[in-house]
Amino acid sequence: MAKQEDVFKTIVSHAKEYGFVFQSSEIYDGLSAVYDYGQMGVELKNNIKRYWWEAMTMLNDNIVGIDSAIFMHPTIWKASGHVDAFNDPLIDNRDSKKRYRADVLIEDEMGKMEEKINKEVAKAAKRFGESFDEAMFRQTNPRVLDIQAKIDQLRDRFAKAMSENDLEDLKQIIIDHEIVCPISGTRNWTDVRQFNLMFKTEMGSTADGAMDVYLRPETAQGIFVNYLNVQKTGRMRIPFGIAQIGKAFRNEIVARQFIFRMREFEQMEMQFFVRPGEELKYFDFWKETRMKWHKALGMGDEKYRYHDHEKLAHYANAATDIEFKMPFGFKEVEGIHSRTNFDLGQHEKFSGKKIQYFDPELNESYTPYVIETSIGVDRMFLTVMCSCYEEQALENGDSRVVLHFPAALAPVKCAVLPLLKKDGLPEKAREIQHKLRFDFTCQYDEKDSIGKRYRRQDAIGTPYCITIDHQTLEDNTVTLRHRDSMEQERVDVDTLAQRLGQEVSLNNLLRKLL
Ligand code: ATP
Repeated sequence: MAKQEDVFKTIVSHAKEYGFVFQSSEIYDGLSAVYDYGQMGVELKNNIKRYWWEAMTMLNDNIVGIDSAIFMHPTIWKASGHVDAFNDPLIDNRDSKKRYRADVLIEDEMGKMEEKINKEVAKAAKRFGESFDEAMFRQTNPRVLDIQAKIDQLRDRFAKAMSENDLEDLKQIIIDHEIVCPISGTRNWTDVRQFNLMFKTEMGSTADGAMDVYLRPETAQGIFVNYLNVQKTGRMRIPFGIAQIGKAFRNEIVARQFIFRMREFEQMEMQFFVRPGEELKYFDFWKETRMKWHKALGMGDEKYRYHDHEKLAHYANAATDIEFKMPFGFKEVEGIHSRTNFDLGQHEKFSGKKIQYFDPELNESYTPYVIETSIGVDRMFLTVMCSCYEEQALENGDSRVVLHFPAALAPVKCAVLPLLKKDGLPEKAREIQHKLRFDFTCQYDEKDSIGKRYRRQDAIGTPYCITIDHQTLEDNTVTLRHRDSMEQERVDVDTLAQRLGQEVSLNNLLRKLL
């Protein structure tokens, strides 16, 4: 098994062992692709949400938040196009009885072909040593060029089949490329069918005519249908944005990679309403602004990249993903889309209500254009877990597992630890903890040796440990231990709150954004 896959498995089990993420309904053998956040997970998740929310609504005068209901009038999903087109192409293997997304099978095949090129490059790099010119090799090596031509051909054919909804050709691509089921190893495939990803349920009793309603597959439509309410009651002037954090539900065909693809998940979405014709300017602005938000966390600039969409949804005129380097490759964490006036236009049409903005500067009314930024809380959580997890060998031959969370996101900010369970040290430690808990999430721990307690805090990513010893009783100082460097310093108890406040405050992160 590839090493990165091992790393990912270790992170998943660490997340469970330390109370970050549990399988939903675990005592009933679990519910596929649904997860619960534990005592540590919920804190990390809340901190991620706060970072996003405050970056949006506090740092921008012209962005306000809402919290719309999960249930919405079913016509909304007709207008948005979800009833007719929120589909994934699925295919079954008759031998393994496993179900796959046809597009994912083909994308994986392209990934394998790219892997072949990378192997050729790695081989040549080894052979030529320091004089190796990778760019030149990729441009001239016949074998690499041959594989690249096949990838390009496949990509074009695949893009055409997807945009024309040509399910027969999707199947033919799978056959032509001899793609086999990873479980059975056979090519005994069914036809490709479309599968709608929305969960449907009923509202009201059947006696008074129950209505089919959907669990929302995105939070954005709740923003669009409240556009007029917010614009009028908030006296908002274009350009302005509406932000929302909330649950979304998708009946994903193949739910894989832990919390990367879930059936119930959370989104943080912001729709920014602009004058027609100015959308691409704001698209570029939000593309840059959102990348800055990610990079401010300091998890490594090289782990992010943009992936501009070549094939756009029919209503979009620009789209990009921010991808993050997960242990299983670069993957989308956030989408930034220029959605034109499609959504508001559709709601105007389907509701019969006028959804327009009177622009006092231009002295005219129009349907605003929209730039959307859409990020999954759970995927963001996964990027933080993956990039902060480290198994570290220590100089004394020991090892430790440490989560290098950005301090502002850490679930617990400090642990208060009496060195011994006697001599009045626990009482003094409690006194200190009781003062600090008004400002920080604090843990008190007196069990086991101090070394073990440090390890436990490292494993949940606590940036600071405060140790109370006999000297504390004499001169009111404590040892402040730093998680990443493991360095210790002596600090006066009365300065602790201010000191920690500076180090762990979300303000530090927010200030980097301006
Ligand atoms: P994908 O191509 O991975 O299915 P998408 O392009 O359908 O994602 P969007 O509809 O743009 O995703 O949703 C915006 C964000 O919501 C994504 O960038 C991702 O972070 C998150 N998201 C989407 N689907 C899921 C899911 N099933 N589980 C967890 N997060 C999700």
